[in-house]
Amino acid sequence: MNRRIFLLIIALSIFTVLVSGSLVYWSAVLNQSISSFHQSWQSDSEVSIKRAALLAELERSLGYNGFIHHFKNYILRQQNVYYDTALLDVESTNNAIVKLRGLGLTEQEDAALDAIQSTFDNYTHMLAVAKSTTTSSNITPTMMDSLVKVDDADAEAAFNFLRHSIGAQFSLAKQQQATMFTQTQALASYGTLLFIPIMLLFACLNIATLIYTLKLLKEKRRLFNATPDAILYFDRNNKLKDVNQACTKLFGYKHHELLGMRVGDLIPQHRFAEEECGQAGAGDPQLKGKKMLALHQSGSKLPVDVTISTVSVSKGDVYIAVIRDLRQEQELRSRAELDFSTQVKNRRKIEVVLREEVQRAIRYHRSLSLLVVDIDYFKQLNDSAGHQDGDTALKEVGQFLTEQARPSDHIGRWGGDEFVIICPETAPDAALNFADRLVHDFLRFSSYGLTFSIGVAGYELIGESFNHQRCFEEADMALYESKKAGRNQATLYIAPCSSFDKKA
Ligand code: GH3
Ligand code: MG
Repeated sequence: MNRRIFLLIIALSIFTVLVSGSLVYWSAVLNQSISSFHQSWQSDSEVSIKRAALLAELERSLGYNGFIHHFKNYILRQQNVYYDTALLDVESTNNAIVKLRGLGLTEQEDAALDAIQSTFDNYTHMLAVAKSTTTSSNITPTMMDSLVKVDDADAEAAFNFLRHSIGAQFSLAKQQQATMFTQTQALASYGTLLFIPIMLLFACLNIATLIYTLKLLKEKRRLFNATPDAILYFDRNNKLKDVNQACTKLFGYKHHELLGMRVGDLIPQHRFAEEECGQAGAGDPQLKGKKMLALHQSGSKLPVDVTISTVSVSKGDVYIAVIRDLRQEQELRSRAELDFSTQVKNRRKIEVVLREEVQRAIRYHRSLSLLVVDIDYFKQLNDSAGHQDGDTALKEVGQFLTEQARPSDHIGRWGGDEFVIICPETAPDAALNFADRLVHDFLRFSSYGLTFSIGVAGYELIGESFNHQRCFEEADMALYESKKAGRNQATLYIAPCSSFDKKA
């Protein structure tokens, strides 16, 4: 993997872990803060509300709608119903005092409650006094009122103090909650503010990695397409996975058309995918520079050079075929082997072919013949008609010999107005007959009224020591004989007694 991509991915991973960790930590802190806010609000507010409620209850049961109200009514009217109701209020007042004390009062609040309790005790005592006085003697309400008079200034002051103190505590709890809420809000806001740039950075890093990866892929595709050879990837089932531009050009298919095809559709000779790859564990199929014929979309056959290698990727093995178009190379080679003027093989090529054919005839004990053809009085044509006509006449000879020879024969221009025909698998007699036919037919073919002479060297069996130079020399000797004997004829070289077989 590319080193920069690798480092980017590592940096991204570390960054992701850090950001995720911070997020988890931050949300835990926020959670903790919210739940402690909730708990403290619940307990503080509950106590404050309870205190306020009990104080109100105490005031009601003790106050002028409660005990004192009924006490006063009893003093004025001296009816038992007021006495009984006042006794009920005594109970509820005592209850309220006990409950209030149970809520954990401060020292001063406790003292205030003591003052209330003491005043209340005075009242309950006076209620008992009033009751006993009522039952024992006849007494006027005014006398009774002055008899049971209680000073409740302390209790009033104590109530004022408690009202103020409990109200202040409630305000304090409210203020504390408000501060706590503001702190939690600030924590949430700081977290958000902190995470916005982190997230932006994170997004930027992600985008940078994506852009870089896309750039690399694009570059790879460009390199892939810049290769002059056709490259194709295929799987074990022979199915094409990807191809480069040179491949589409070579085979004449569009990129998407090729992706649905198999290697065998393009190179019918390539059968290993079905036969060899099908056998599991048969080994990696590999071809190196194998010459094959590929199939163009038009149906024409293309000479190609195929190299196939195996590459292991994450999804298993894939195969890469590099296919080189040999058409241009073949054309260049065949051009280099042809005589430019007459379009038959040039001297260099025909000499190579002659050497190969002589060796083949020696190795496999085959017959072989060589004809050396030389135009008669060609110089005269050049002199009279000019070199251009001379060149045309040479082309005519090349064309004539090509038309007359068999496909297995090799025709070449040895030099000047001299041509050779190599006839593999041809015995001397047959070669001489062929040469005679050529001499005869050329008379009618030549537009310049030319004739040529031929020397034939033919062999039924060639000895090991024989070579192509000697073969040419013997044919050339026979040609010389033809020229000497008056031209426009063919002569067969007869070895070893140096006699020549001629036919007019
Ligand atoms: P002979 O019957 O003895 O063969 O007589 P000739 O006039 O053909 O003599 P020779 O074969 O020795 O001469 C070959 C001549 O062919 C020499 C040259 O002027 C001519 N020649 C060689 N190459 C070319 C060529 O490429 N173009 C043309 N126009 N003439 C060529
Ligand atoms: Mg000549």
